[in-house]
Parts: sequence; C-alpha cells; structure tokens
Amino acid sequence: MSTFQAPKGTYDLLPPNSATYLAVREAISAPLKNSGYGYIETPGFENVELFARGVGGSTDIVTKEMYAFETKGGDQLALRPEGTASVLRAALEANLHKGGNLPVKLWYSGSYYRYERPQKGRYRHFSQVGAEAIGAEDPALDAELIILADQAYRALGLRDFRILLNSLGDKECRPVYRTALQDFLRGLDLDEDTRRRIDINPLRVLDDKREYVQERLVGAPMLRDYLCEACKAYHEQVRELLTAAGVAFEDDVKLVRGLDYYTRTTFEFVHDGLGSQSAVGGGGRYDGLSEMIGGPALPSVGWALGVDRTVLALEAEGVTLDIPAATAVYAVPLGDEARRVLFGAVTELRRAGIATDFAFGGKGLKNAMKSANRSGARLALVAGERDLAEGVVQLKDLRSGEQTPVALDAVVEEIRRALG
Ligand code: ATP
Ligand code: MG
Repeated sequence: MSTFQAPKGTYDLLPPNSATYLAVREAISAPLKNSGYGYIETPGFENVELFARGVGGSTDIVTKEMYAFETKGGDQLALRPEGTASVLRAALEANLHKGGNLPVKLWYSGSYYRYERPQKGRYRHFSQVGAEAIGAEDPALDAELIILADQAYRALGLRDFRILLNSLGDKECRPVYRTALQDFLRGLDLDEDTRRRIDINPLRVLDDKREYVQERLVGAPMLRDYLCEACKAYHEQVRELLTAAGVAFEDDVKLVRGLDYYTRTTFEFVHDGLGSQSAVGGGGRYDGLSEMIGGPALPSVGWALGVDRTVLALEAEGVTLDIPAATAVYAVPLGDEARRVLFGAVTELRRAGIATDFAFGGKGLKNAMKSANRSGARLALVAGERDLAEGVVQLKDLRSGEQTPVALDAVVEEIRRALG
C-alpha cells in the first residue's frame, strides 16, 4: 500500500473542487442562520453509550457501522455516526432547555463516521449539515425545517429532488401497530436475518430494498391505518403548512428511516440522479429521544443533509456553482528590489480586503505569468527595476492583456477602480 493513500472509504477535499463543498455547507446553513438557529459544535467522539441509547441498539448504525473503541484510559468511546444524539446531549448538559425559551434551535456542520461498504455516495467519513429544534411540539416547526431544507436545495440550483413524507405515530399508536406488523411478518417465509429483525425492529423490514422481501410484504398492515387521532391531526397540519408554502412532497407510507428515535413526522430528501445512494438528507421528529438518553421529556424535530451526496446531486444535474475566483490580483516581481516592494504592495492590498497572491519562489517571468493566469486573477501587478526607478508598477489586465503603469503609492486605489 502506498504511504500516500487515504484510508478506504475516505477521500480528500482539494482545491479547486473543495470550494464547492464549502459553498454547499454555506448554502445549507444560510436559511437556518436566517431563521433563528444558532451554531453548535460538539466533539467528534462521544461515550459509546450515548449512541447505543440514543440511536438505538437495534439499528445498523450502532450494531454494524459504528467506530467504537476503548481509550488507553479505559473509556468506551465512538466516533460520532450522526449528529442528533450529540446535539441533544450538549443542549441538556448546558441546560439550554431551561432558559424558558423553547424551542432551542441549533444547527451544525461536521464530519461523521460509519463503517460501511464504500461505494459512490457512501463513505466511511462523510459530512453533514444538520438542524435540530428541541423542546416544542408544533407542526409548524416540522414544516419550518422541511421548508428550510427545500429552500437550501433550491438556492443551490437543485431541481430533481423529491421530499418523501410519513408519520411514524407516537407512543400511543405505534406499539399497537408494531404488534400487528409483527404478527403479519411472522407468518411470512423470510430469511433468518430478517426474521430476527421482526423482533427487534419490525418497521425496518418494511423498507428492505430486496425484491423478494417486498413481494412478501404485499398486504402488510400500514401504520397510516393505525395512527391515533392526535397523530393524524398533527400530520395533517404539517402537510397543510407545506402545501401552503408551496413545497411539494410525496406521501410515502413505507418511509421508516434507519434510526430508532423517530416519532410522528419523518421525511427524506431523495435525488433522482444519484442511483442507489439516492437519499441526500433526512430527518424527523424524535419526541422520545431526550428521555431515552436520560433527560426530561423534550419533543423535538431535526434533519441532517449529506454534503457529499448534495455535491454529487449538483454534478448529476450539471449545476456549477458560481464561485468567485479566490484571487483577484497576482503580483509578479522581476528582481530582488521588486520582490521587496511588491511584497509590500501585496500586504497593503490584502489589508484593504483585496484577494491577492504573489509569485513566490523566485520564478522567472514566464512561469510567474502562468501562475498568475492559473490563479484566476483578473489583474497582474508586474514590476522590474526600470519601473521602480520611475516609481511605478505595471498593472496588467489578464483578460485583455492591456498594461498600464500606475504610481506605486496609488496602487490600492487604482486596483480598486480597475476591479470595479
Ligand atoms: P442511507 O439510507 O443511504 O444509508 P441514512 O438513512 O443512513 O442513509 P442518515 O443517517 O439519515 O442517512 O443521514 C443523513 C444523510 O447523510 C443521508 O441522507 C446522506 O446524504 C448522508 N449520509 C449518511 N450516511 C452516509 C455515508 N456513509 N456516506 C455519505 N453520506 C452519508
Ligand atoms: Mg445508512
């Protein structure tokens, strides 16, 4: 194995493409920042117990995908596989829910780790931007989050995505349904692994992707028919608010999602250009999670959008983001005295807020101009001994090739004008 190889299932973000990732994170978080969500950052690892309880001991995430390890000091930790449990843990620890200002609305952005079989759109290290609204039961809050994710995707220029929506019921109606579903599933001819699932997480059997399983599921009881009046009314309000906001969605009675903690509203954003890794984001209500990790009752709702898959979705739709060139001005000194003077001008330009770079390493003119062009700069600042003797530098428009001398002490001003 080469020393210069990222671990399996990971990849590096490198310029210039890395700018797209930054822009995606920015685009997803912008509507949140604009809607009362405050930024939160939590550690990359937590006590393994938090995820075992919070994500659920019957989920693939905990049983198969988690990077769990023991530290030298004997602590049982895990790299975070998702964000919600950590954010809720942090909010409870800091007593954010006791400020008398519910819901606590938070957004985050970071790296997540799952030991999965790597393939396109599925990595062992990936990146999410997420949002959580903690401590309020209000269909407008569920709607708000879905609307903000929709707004983010649209702002990025994405069109070929769909919103799948379902309700998973609550602690009144879900157990009744669960039993009915288990009774149905136990009567089916299924493989050993799936049969085991019937006991621990029967709802997950419903969204098994294998055809032979789906064939046998015809006629299975549907949660929709078991929802209690309160859950039905709640769901209807979420649907109405989304419709009123002009956000299209599809009812998907089989949408279960992979985490144990969801109640009532669940949703997924799928993109039709991504093949089998089609989910770009998902979320839902998790009214019981706080109690599951030892906190008070705090009905909450949230989502996480995958940055990696969102970038793939942009590629699939052929959308290129309008990312301004990182460098506006590129300085090319010819000779030692010019180096000293131009480096000073570069510092001055940067302090004036103009994105400027410099031909380091004592390159010759030809190479330096190549670098100037590659940088995307609009202007080059070129100076040799004769220019300095006259107290000027040459300002070269890299598109037209036009070159004009400008007085050394008016460089910032002239460049400002030239850049418009
Ligand atoms: P999937 O069904 O594809 O495994 P998931 O339900 O496990 O997705 P969530 O836990 O809901 O995904 O995470 C939210 C989003 O994070 C996903 O929609 C996806 O965009 C992204 N995501 C999850 N796992 C990965 C991964 N291994 N690699 C890249 N992105 C991921
Ligand atoms: Mg998964």
